[in-house]
Amino acid sequence: MNVLRSVAEIRAAVADAKAAGEEVGLVPTMGALHEGHLSLIRAARAESGLVIVSLFVNPTQFGAHEDLDAYPRDQERDARLAREAGADILFAPPVSEVYPDGFATTIHVTGVTDVLCGAVRGPGHFDGVATVVAKLFGMVAPDSAYFGQKDAQQVVVVRRLVRDLNMPVRVVACPIVREPDGLAMSSRNAYLDEASRRRATALNRALDTADALVRSGERRAAPVIAAARGVLAAAGLDPEYIELRDAEDLSAREDVGDRALLAISARVGAARLIDNRILEGDHRCDASC
Ligand code: AMP
Repeated sequence: MNVLRSVAEIRAAVADAKAAGEEVGLVPTMGALHEGHLSLIRAARAESGLVIVSLFVNPTQFGAHEDLDAYPRDQERDARLAREAGADILFAPPVSEVYPDGFATTIHVTGVTDVLCGAVRGPGHFDGVATVVAKLFGMVAPDSAYFGQKDAQQVVVVRRLVRDLNMPVRVVACPIVREPDGLAMSSRNAYLDEASRRRATALNRALDTADALVRSGERRAAPVIAAARGVLAAAGLDPEYIELRDAEDLSAREDVGDRALLAISARVGAARLIDNRILEGDHRCDASC
């Protein structure tokens, strides 16, 4: 696996692969790789001739009081894990390569960025995400790009960006990878002390409870959210948000309908954690109905 740092180098590598008829798959990450990231790399490996993992802690998507400086960084470990998962290239540009002096463009996706994490973190967060993803697509020109459903709103924003700007990139969303006790894997789990780590499992348990209620026949948002909120409260967690939204356009939903996204954000100790579940209202009732 090669580690490349400049746009010129990555362009040359991609041009060679495309000339050889290979499909190019890109996995954008901020490093501190875990099994969630590795699942994306393996998905890219299964479908691409050239697999590029980008490693860039994007300063523009962090708010002024967020954890940019504290964000875990270990490039040697990341390079080893990316290689073992099947990456051909680790693209790890310095900030000056991505945002050279005079950089003056921001991409703002309206609507879907106003809610959930966009409301909590402010509009700058998804502006930073949309801008860096657009830049990575411009630098790498991948055929496919792989994102985790863990960041469900990010997937919606990226799909909208790609559609609105006619980018010739296939966006692939991969399932959430969890720890054995159900906690969604996240680089920010490293901020949790032992007690917070235990409490953090309440997010997934709250989603399980909501899911079970829907499977037993409930479809209304209010009781489903109340049940999930109860699980969080029992663990001493007061969520930043817990909302039922349309999985495709993130509009508010009063009812699960055929399917809807239940999304949670909560501060747990030193970490801000997010998790979500697609609730399916159209499945056949199981034995408990
Ligand atoms: P990050 O490094 O946090 O920006 O994440 C890079 C990519 O990995 C994003 O597309 C995330 O959605 C994805 N990702 C992070 N955690 C998980 C997880 N637990 N399961 C699946 N994908 C994940």
